[in-house]
Amino acid sequence: MFAPNPEYRAGRDFASTDHLAADAVVAYVDGVLRPDACARVEDHLRLCAACAADIDAQATAAALLRGSCDVSAPSDLVGELSQIPTREYHVRDLDRRSR
Ligand SMILES: [Zn+2]
Repeated sequence: MFAPNPEYRAGRDFASTDHLAADAVVAYVDGVLRPDACARVEDHLRLCAACAADIDAQATAAALLRGSCDVSAPSDLVGELSQIPTREYHVRDLDRRSR
């Protein structure tokens, strides 16, 4: 005979005993996790030195990228990008094929 498990919560995508997935580490460091997911990550981090080290490494890498990359695009880049479809496709050829 089966009895319901009161500990089971359907739809839970992350248990505090599971290690953090790489995308969860990045999302946590970037501050884009939902508050409930963020709380589960923090619960796990209190128990898991390995994931805490992953978080530290990701935070360090993110800070280095923010500090070292002064990325700027040439002012005419948007104009160049907008020309790509008209350069790559010949509208007349596409019209002929569709007939
Ligand atoms: Zn872990």
